[in-house]
Amino acid sequence: MPETIYEKNLAFEAAWRDLERRSRMLWLLLAAYLPGTFLLAWVINTLFPQHTSLPLVGIVWMAAIGWVGFHMARFACPRCGATFFENWYFFKPLRNTCAHCDLARRAKSGDAAPGAD
Ligand SMILES: [Zn+2]
Repeated sequence: MPETIYEKNLAFEAAWRDLERRSRMLWLLLAAYLPGTFLLAWVINTLFPQHTSLPLVGIVWMAAIGWVGFHMARFACPRCGATFFENWYFFKPLRNTCAHCDLARRAKSGDAAPGAD
């Protein structure tokens, strides 16, 4: 548990960087689903002649989206430690405040507004 304000701010920055990485990966997988599935299936079919790879690649890609989405949904708020994007019934990946303590996304400390020093 961070003790000084400096350590606490570093913990917040690390948490937001982790969140941005998870978020970027999720949106990339979602945006590239159709072209990525067809491209990967074409590459697999070219390298290993077979005709069943498109549905399989699509299912694996969807599983990857689900796995990354699950990890994003489990992102812990740096202030309260509860899940930032989901409450007990709903996952909202576009949320800008914590579902439990209303901490603003990208806040530099537990008390500051986003972008404030
Ligand atoms: Zn919170």
